[in-house]
Amino acid sequence: MIRRLTFPSAMFAIVLLVSSALVQALPTPLSDHDLWQRSGKFEGDMVLAPWQKNGVIDVKLRWTNRHIPYELSDEFDQQQKAQINEVLEREFAKTCVTVKPRVNEADYVYVTGGDSGCWSHVGRLGGLQGLNLQVRGCVWNHTIVHEFLHAAGFYHQQSSTDRDNFVDIFWENIEPGKEYNFDKYNADFVTSFNETYDYGSIMHYAKTAFSANGKPTVLPKGDSTIPIGVTNVMSEIDIRKLAKMYDCVEM
Ligand SMILES: [Zn+2]
Repeated sequence: MIRRLTFPSAMFAIVLLVSSALVQALPTPLSDHDLWQRSGKFEGDMVLAPWQKNGVIDVKLRWTNRHIPYELSDEFDQQQKAQINEVLEREFAKTCVTVKPRVNEADYVYVTGGDSGCWSHVGRLGGLQGLNLQVRGCVWNHTIVHEFLHAAGFYHQQSSTDRDNFVDIFWENIEPGKEYNFDKYNADFVTSFNETYDYGSIMHYAKTAFSANGKPTVLPKGDSTIPIGVTNVMSEIDIRKLAKMYDCVEM
């Protein structure tokens, strides 16, 4: 169980529905929990063009009918396909959004397994949109769910507008050139859905993400022992935010 502190008055921001930002995660054949802890050695988790940081909340980027269809490339073997199908079925069954194999829907996620790491666009682009789970390195429950939550419209927890109230960023430990992974977003770009900052989110980085030296790059403020980035299931807050994003419940 992830320990989670709450801050009742907290306003934070998780991103909602920004333009076609590309989000990359971590191509590494480690356990779910190690994946983020050692992420400093790998490709950036998030890649945004400058103009995309000026994106606005846009409901057009939501999936219609609360439904995200997907197809799996034949780069995955049967066992991997079964794993991906099973974890998506199990995790999104907790939510009001369905993520199911495509029948003939026009808009869908095409999941590939090439060597470009683990990444997804943020929100629905229209038509076929890519999502990559590198066959050797990204087919882990945490990563599968994490990337599909990007596809649903979420950015990372620690990108929230007021994250500095909840975590400390250790810039001196971040791999040079990877600092952009710790960017914050403006409040007109992201929304918290009136939920508190969520250390237990599956969208939170681990403590040594993008570390150049093995030392922490992000730690919970006040109590650095709080676990972050170590879950492979959606948190209750992840589930509520998804419900609010897709108007299943009131804000
Ligand atoms: Zn990510």
